[in-house]
Amino acid sequence: MRHLKLALALAAFITSCSEKQTLVHSSANFELVELSKGVYGCIHKFGGKAICNVGIIDNGKETLIFDSFLSPSVASELLDVVEGLGLSPIKYVVNSHSHNDHIRGNQVFSSDVKIISTSKTAELIKEWEPIDIEDEKEYAPQRLAHYDSLCKAYNGDTTAREYLQILMWRPYYEALAESHKVVKTRLPDVFVDHQQYYNGPARRVQLISKGQGHTESDLILYLPDDKILFAGDLVFNECHPYLPSGFVPDWLNWLNFMDSLNVGIVVPGHGKTGSKDIIPAMRTYILSIENLVEEMHYRDLTIDDAEKIEIPDQYKDWWFDRFFLSNLKFMYSGMDKK
Ligand SMILES: [Zn+2]
Repeated sequence: MRHLKLALALAAFITSCSEKQTLVHSSANFELVELSKGVYGCIHKFGGKAICNVGIIDNGKETLIFDSFLSPSVASELLDVVEGLGLSPIKYVVNSHSHNDHIRGNQVFSSDVKIISTSKTAELIKEWEPIDIEDEKEYAPQRLAHYDSLCKAYNGDTTAREYLQILMWRPYYEALAESHKVVKTRLPDVFVDHQQYYNGPARRVQLISKGQGHTESDLILYLPDDKILFAGDLVFNECHPYLPSGFVPDWLNWLNFMDSLNVGIVVPGHGKTGSKDIIPAMRTYILSIENLVEEMHYRDLTIDDAEKIEIPDQYKDWWFDRFFLSNLKFMYSGMDKK
């Protein structure tokens, strides 16, 4: 009986979650889902060029955009869609961290829109964007040509994971190569290094930074009244996260902190919107990589042996498989240094 009650409560919870999530727009690049009145998740679509997920939050007097995609053209598409929603004027764009796929749309917003990040993230963007863009100008067209040739040569099952992987990565390099013709780095000009509210009559909006985690500096957006969290790349949903630019103990602390918040819906940096469960799932993933690396050391395996280690069954269906090997090697090197 107790189990039946639990199952009914769970079903009601899932229904209430899905009721809140209404699809309001769909294009080749993203899907816009209403999570609460005036709060939207703009979710990357498989095969599209958005790459990361974006949040749109109207506090009743002003609208904040959380992250701005990899390419200015997809950010322009987002702007057009937002204009049609009849929201309060856009006043802020938040950069959750310095990675290219979260910041390159900054330039499409008008000059009276402030760009918010931590001060460290602004430093990292200023330092690394010119270097990264020059590097990408070299490798992005080459990788695009590589994926094009794989596409043309493929004559197997087009629903097979192997082919879907090609379809998934190709748009990333295409978006990079296309955007290099127009990209201009627009730096953040408002800094939040700990906590700041951007409240309005409709809701409280909280920006929180606890320093390094997925990168040297991360920032999240929390809506305590709606119980919605925009987690940036501290959380991926059913995708291997990319650990090598991160700081694992701090990342785990971040996950513990986010898990302590009163949250019903989590919008991850990559992957679909999920329940709060995707936060501990990320922690379990990171700990499982740590355990695999500990076992490698115990068995006296070298870093090159990482290539022989299979992805554990529970992560076999997750996307971004190639990050698994990068994560093992990164963690192996880190543990070796201790
Ligand atoms: Zn990232």
